[in-house]
Amino acid sequence: MPHWTATCHCRQLRLSITGAPRHVHACTCTRCQNVTGGPASWNGWFDRADVAIHGTYSTYAYDRAGSGGSFSTFCPTCGSGGFGVTQEFLPDCYVIPMGSLASPEGPPPPAPAMVHFWQNRPGWLESLGDLPGGNGGWPDR
Ligand SMILES: [Zn+2]
Repeated sequence: MPHWTATCHCRQLRLSITGAPRHVHACTCTRCQNVTGGPASWNGWFDRADVAIHGTYSTYAYDRAGSGGSFSTFCPTCGSGGFGVTQEFLPDCYVIPMGSLASPEGPPPPAPAMVHFWQNRPGWLESLGDLPGGNGGWPDR
């Protein structure tokens, strides 16, 4: 059985996940760029019974589908991490940003099975792997 621990930046908010996601996708729409601050979102939908929540979180409720009940959560200390619920797709699941599962020790988070709004991606996204890189310095995990 897969097992991941999703964490926020400061690690105060942790999600212990003990099941495979029902769906994983990436999205490069401009709203997802606004939410993540990056070129794409990468989210997984997990059965709620497979997710144990440890720590405190703040909630941002929104009403994109007109039915209410959608929300995102985030760590009140560092503002990252968390989980959410989308009423328009698999509302019985928690949506978790897959980057919060990344760890040098754990299994890699599952890759997306599809991408939405690829036409809205930043023009440089596809050439990212061709840029010079460095592995020293700040990242400690
Ligand atoms: Zn935090």
